[in-house]
Amino acid sequence: MGKDERYDVVIIGAGHNGTTTAAYLAKCGLSVCVLEERPECGGAQETVEPIAGVRLQPHAIANYGGSAPGWEQLELWRYGFRMDWNPKVPVPYAYDRHLFTSDGPWPVSQKDQMGWAKMCGLLTDPPFYKDLMRATFWCPPHPAGVELNEHTIPYMQVYKQHQPDMWTRELMEMTMFDLMDEYCETEPFKVNQAWTALVSGAHGHMEGVAIPALCSVATVHAPAVAKPVAARGNMHGYYHAIFRCAVANGAVFRACCPVEEIIIENGRAAGVRLRDDATRGPKKIWADKAVISAAHIKPTFLKLIGPRHLDAGFLQRIKDLSLKGGSLYMTSFLTREELRYRPKYRRQPADQRQFTGTFFPSDSRELYFENVRDVLGSQANLTLPPSKAMWGIVASSLYDATQPQSTREGYVINGPLWMMVPTPEYQVEGLDAMDREKDKWNEYMRQALACVVENLEEPNLVRILGETPYEQELRNTGMLGGSWYGIRCDRDEWWNERPLPELARYRVPGIDGLYLAHQSAAHPGGLCLMAVGYNLMHILIEDGVAQPGKWWYPSPWYIPEDGKISAKLG
Ligand SMILES: Cc1cc2nc3c(=O)[nH]c(=O)nc-3n(C[C@H](O)[C@H](O)[C@H](O)COP(=O)(O)OP(=O)(O)OC[C@H]3O[C@@H](n4cnc5c(N)ncnc54)[C@H](O)[C@@H]3O)c2cc1C
Repeated sequence: MGKDERYDVVIIGAGHNGTTTAAYLAKCGLSVCVLEERPECGGAQETVEPIAGVRLQPHAIANYGGSAPGWEQLELWRYGFRMDWNPKVPVPYAYDRHLFTSDGPWPVSQKDQMGWAKMCGLLTDPPFYKDLMRATFWCPPHPAGVELNEHTIPYMQVYKQHQPDMWTRELMEMTMFDLMDEYCETEPFKVNQAWTALVSGAHGHMEGVAIPALCSVATVHAPAVAKPVAARGNMHGYYHAIFRCAVANGAVFRACCPVEEIIIENGRAAGVRLRDDATRGPKKIWADKAVISAAHIKPTFLKLIGPRHLDAGFLQRIKDLSLKGGSLYMTSFLTREELRYRPKYRRQPADQRQFTGTFFPSDSRELYFENVRDVLGSQANLTLPPSKAMWGIVASSLYDATQPQSTREGYVINGPLWMMVPTPEYQVEGLDAMDREKDKWNEYMRQALACVVENLEEPNLVRILGETPYEQELRNTGMLGGSWYGIRCDRDEWWNERPLPELARYRVPGIDGLYLAHQSAAHPGGLCLMAVGYNLMHILIEDGVAQPGKWWYPSPWYIPEDGKISAKLG
């Protein structure tokens, strides 16, 4: 047994957000210790190998974070980050490449393309899409005293400055469907984009989050990212670069070290106590400047802080936080040869040989709402036939050819296919309702995909590897709700409301030196965006915890809190 240890900052949880925060703080010269419950770091930005040589992404697959300041500020290229992308080769992204209805491929109209490009800031000279993405995700919520209106909300400021003909007060009330009804033309295009938002962030049908929903789609498309699945080593390769940056700057990571308690002395977070079975000797680790919880908000407050330090009413509001955003059933298909489109879905001769993935079926708004009703309304197992259930899939051909998903000779891994399903906590048939019938749901996913591909049967199909949201929760407590977003992502829990208004600036009121950094606890929530770490930096600078070097630049839309140090640093 060693002695108790002491650091400037202790971070609970080595997922994407805890690790990004560690990298930023270590780069500021602070001593940082990150404690992880599981045997491996990475949280939901992980790769698994259930069969030797067959790699799967059980959670994060696509890179939504291309506009992040973190690429420059953390200099991830110095720590091994590489893209599967040649800047001299034009990005082959075209919306109609992936857009299918039950009748076949859908030709996206010129008006659809131009309307979408306009909303995303691609038609001005120079384009302003990067400002729009950064204003939406990479800016901390304003201090409580600042009125939020069409002049102060960052993305509204961007439209006002760069595209005033789009800037109207109503933008703040709209759904993404309302917005697309003004600028785009065809129903399948709108349905495809709204469904992509539904499984990426703010939902396409939710009021007051039209721009966050739009940006959660645009941020995973060119030019915001070169290709959605473009990081070498996939999303875990991206994680490795952040981890290496943190370690190279001196951060210490401890796996198999679950935190059981945040030690609070005289109203201040003083350190943490590890669980008895932690593999590390000192069970108390002290923090001189800050404790940051990058673990899920509910266990953070209900267990790690505990009721004796919190007001009962506040604790109830934490318990009441809604996880009803919907979860994803993830399915991968191990086959002997590449999947092939059915003849009806081939657009060009090359499609005869290779399946490049798709979203399906983008038939109509009615079908979108039938899916939403099934998942978010009845909160029971899906009732739609597989041919009507909406899904997306990443085909094996989209991954970096130098790091294929399957290195087993003669085997191809296709997927994951992701489909919205109810959140286990609200499943009327019980937490494990899908798990009890997993074979049935794997077969359901197979039938859904088989609407579009022709060789998804034995002997080509070797195995279906499915993962329910409840299994995701059992892998990782951070996935409570089985959700990629942590908590719901509508207007009630967006930006200055997330997760509760008094927690929106990442501080825990009443407990000095305690901050929140998990996707469930902090704007902008889910996705591996390096956004929570960047946004939290503004607050840690304000509180005198972090003092970055010249490499730091704040968000241009950031408003400092009165009486604090400004993160603009002069
Ligand atoms: C099915 C699915 C698909 C997704 N697809 C994408 C995608 O394509 N692209 C994308 O960018 N994002 C995607 N996401 C979202 C993304 O994976 C998450 O938003 C992100 O990884 C969350 O990071 P985090 O650090 O907030 O939380 P987590 O990854 O949950 O990390 C929290 C960490 O804290 C640890 N921990 C918890 N309690 C303790 C404790 N008491 N002591 C010590 N450690 C503790 C956990 O073990 C975990 O490692 C997806 C998520 C899901 C579920």
